[in-house]
Amino acid sequence: MAPWVFSSGAFVMGIILGSFLTVCIHRLPRGQSVVTPRSACPDCGHGIHWFDNIPLVSFIILRGRCRNCRQPIPYRYPLIELINGVGYVLLLRHFGWGWPVVLYGMFFSALLAVTWIDWDFQIIPDVITIPGTVLGLVASTLILPVGFWNALIGIVVGGGILYLLAWMSPFVFGKEGLGGGDIKLLAMVGAFLGWQPALLTLFLASILEAGVGLSLMGLKVLARGQYMPFGPFLAVGAITSLLYSSHLIHWYLELI
Ligand SMILES: [Zn+2]
Repeated sequence: MAPWVFSSGAFVMGIILGSFLTVCIHRLPRGQSVVTPRSACPDCGHGIHWFDNIPLVSFIILRGRCRNCRQPIPYRYPLIELINGVGYVLLLRHFGWGWPVVLYGMFFSALLAVTWIDWDFQIIPDVITIPGTVLGLVASTLILPVGFWNALIGIVVGGGILYLLAWMSPFVFGKEGLGGGDIKLLAMVGAFLGWQPALLTLFLASILEAGVGLSLMGLKVLARGQYMPFGPFLAVGAITSLLYSSHLIHWYLELI
């Protein structure tokens, strides 16, 4: 079969699961079930029919408005679906078809949900990171090119280093910067990627957060000392590590 068939399949799969992700992102931090009830318009409460719930397509047909009350549907819904769809295509092109890409797809979607929830609510739900860590450990043992011990060390090193930083930060930085959610998130990254990419994730996330933080302060969007969630940066760092850790670690070792 032609490569575009696989890419299209990955994209469709990505936007369908992305649609489920939007439900998770909305309901998990509010402690609601992601299964029932079916989706409703947040403005008028009108139940959304299956034909108005087709990822991306319905948003375009409805021109971004609820069929019942015509209130705008937030752009984040099609955006999350689109990011998830494009993410799956990129993963498929990078890793090729097989079980690893299925697992990396789940890892990607979990990170996407975490990014959005942490940005909105400054929490990272345990219901994502704890089962995610277990899944990562099992997957690394059985399928991914990581292995049990590397994944286990990844969990301990990833979670441990953030635990230590969180414990130290009130003394060193005079403020509490890291939460328990960040600790469990980096443990999950360690479970999926192994300990070296987990450290690389933290390194990349720190640089990125500093860069974005300084830029936002420069633009006066963010006040000095204002809290910025770390989860989204860890997520971007983790995906970068997943795709390029061997290159980056190799490049770094050549430098020193
Ligand atoms: Zn409505």
